[in-house]
Amino acid sequence: MTETPDFQALRAAMVREQLVERDIADQRVLAAMGRLERERFVPTAYQAHAYADRPLPIGEGQTISQPYVVAYMLQNLALNGDERVLEIGTGSGYQTALLCLLAAEVISIERLENLSRQAAARLAALGLSNVHLIVGDGWLGAPQFAPYQAIVVSAAAARLPKPLLAQLDEGGRMVIPVRERRNPEEQTLVLIRRTRCGLRARRLCGVRFVPLISDQAAAQDN
Ligand code: SAH
Repeated sequence: MTETPDFQALRAAMVREQLVERDIADQRVLAAMGRLERERFVPTAYQAHAYADRPLPIGEGQTISQPYVVAYMLQNLALNGDERVLEIGTGSGYQTALLCLLAAEVISIERLENLSRQAAARLAALGLSNVHLIVGDGWLGAPQFAPYQAIVVSAAAARLPKPLLAQLDEGGRMVIPVRERRNPEEQTLVLIRRTRCGLRARRLCGVRFVPLISDQAAAQDN
């Protein structure tokens, strides 16, 4: 017989060792990640590893991001609780749930219906209702709810999606992994800010995400 892991202790250790001891200092992000049960968002077979310092498979060839990467992206969004946020790549719904705790309203797009459906059930079970899930191509964003004070993309794009830039509010922040043109195996996490004077981009660090799959992006290549 296997014992049920002490998830609460594992969660507290994850926050301390993987987040605080690195460079996560946003107290709201730390509190939300200290509270949200990540084990609810991983397949049963991986539950014992829910707080491991790495991504985990969630089916359909996709992954739930490493806790640190989620924290780092959220910290760079600098949320204060008033924002309408757009997320591309709902996946397991873990980051979506954190956004529900950290912002006013969340719109999240996932291209795989099955993953979106499972995420919806998890969010509902947690009583999180300030969220609107959409099945579709996130490259296009969701202009019907724009502008967004924050946009976070959880899959690596070949370049910056113009529709998303257009939906970013003045003063808004967007975090997105972008594949390097010279070596598509390499990805860089980029922070975009829309100021009164236009868009500002800053490279944050190297990352490894599953690819953003988009017919729209492909069509625009031609
Ligand atoms: N934050 C999620 C990450 C899931 S992985 C988590 O931690 O669980 C990235 C997700 O992006 C995958 O579920 C994949 O299906 C989705 N995705 C890829 N291309 C997409 C697109 N064009 N539009 C919407 N979702 C996309």
